[in-house]
Amino acid sequence: MQPLTTEVVRAQGIVTERRAAALSAQRRADRQDPPGSDCRSGRIPWPPQASPEWSDWRWQLRHAVTRPSQLAELGLISRDEAEELETVVRTYPMRITPYYLSLIDWGDPSDPLRRQALPSRDELRIDARLQEDPLEEELHSPLAALVHRYPDRVLILTNTFCPVLCRHCTRKRLMRGKPFYADRQTLSAAISYVARNPRVHDVLLSGGNPLCLSARRLDWLLASLSAIPHVEVIRIGSREPAVLPQRLFDPNLREVLARHRRKLWVNTQFNHPRELTDAAAEAIETLLLLGIPVNNQTVLLRGVNDDVEVLYQLFRGLLRLKVRPYYLLHADATQGTAHFRTSVFRGMELVESLRGQLSGLGIPLYIVDSPKLGKLPIVPTYARPCDDGYVELHKPSRGTIRYPDGAP
Ligand code: SF4
Repeated sequence: MQPLTTEVVRAQGIVTERRAAALSAQRRADRQDPPGSDCRSGRIPWPPQASPEWSDWRWQLRHAVTRPSQLAELGLISRDEAEELETVVRTYPMRITPYYLSLIDWGDPSDPLRRQALPSRDELRIDARLQEDPLEEELHSPLAALVHRYPDRVLILTNTFCPVLCRHCTRKRLMRGKPFYADRQTLSAAISYVARNPRVHDVLLSGGNPLCLSARRLDWLLASLSAIPHVEVIRIGSREPAVLPQRLFDPNLREVLARHRRKLWVNTQFNHPRELTDAAAEAIETLLLLGIPVNNQTVLLRGVNDDVEVLYQLFRGLLRLKVRPYYLLHADATQGTAHFRTSVFRGMELVESLRGQLSGLGIPLYIVDSPKLGKLPIVPTYARPCDDGYVELHKPSRGTIRYPDGAP
């Protein structure tokens, strides 16, 4: 079994340096391909919404901010802060779309959106209990760009490019250096692996961000996977609706998604109600109108959403958009993200406080993803057995009752 180490990803993964240059040239020649790995940061007009190209996702990527000094030039942070953050960016790069920049309240140093996108010196603090690869994906990688942790599901890592590099990312280790895309040969090997394993019914495409693939590459990938009879579900994990909703306005992409909608699901990641903008709502509606169900996986993040009212507004807002709040994920034990992590019991308390305030449809499962045990739902014990034909039911906010039990 060949582990998916960062070196393997770079060397045979995904793209060698020479191959990257060739791909880059090919992309420039083909307007359908994303700028991805050769994303250039131009000076952003500010306020950026004034730009006539604001709704063009390519413009958004071309103008994504990748250096703290650019934020200082725009007057959003001080020069001293920019200098301090340069040291962080040398280890963990940054990228923020003008769209996401425009959602941040720059007057508030603790703004929850700023916290998710702007580097912090805390990322360089080593915590001996945390891991570079907290889910042991590299151990469960039989070939480059493919992770097989559960019998019926596989994960294909299509690229390491994201429009906004989330500071809390589980795959921070893969986000170092230049972004890369899985080449056709690597993806073909992953598709053949799925075809050879009839127990695999569910394929998750993630990265990175699969919706940043060119429409043509995505079309080929989805067509190849859809043609495998035992593949029943293809899920695309994408934070695009939250950080670059303009991508979903691209007619080429919409055509591709429509063509493969039969097996397709999308998992998004909205972490704060302020990410639920009109543009995000339009992106979600695009997917729903194509007949693609959308589920959301929120990451529980200290200083961002570890608050009952924030989670209440977020989950209610998602329901309004017809997005199911599916998981609340405890932040993974990833090196460089200690400052985002809450206690597991705090997470459980938060979810329990929502019960009774929101319908069951709006309350996600609270999940801890661990290397040895996989995904574990963390729920309090509500029922205790009695010996006399009753059970004792307990709800922290409402008390305890005895309830007649059925036959064993
Ligand atoms: S979108 Fe996902 S993969 Fe990309 S940086 Fe954010 S958390 Fe990581």
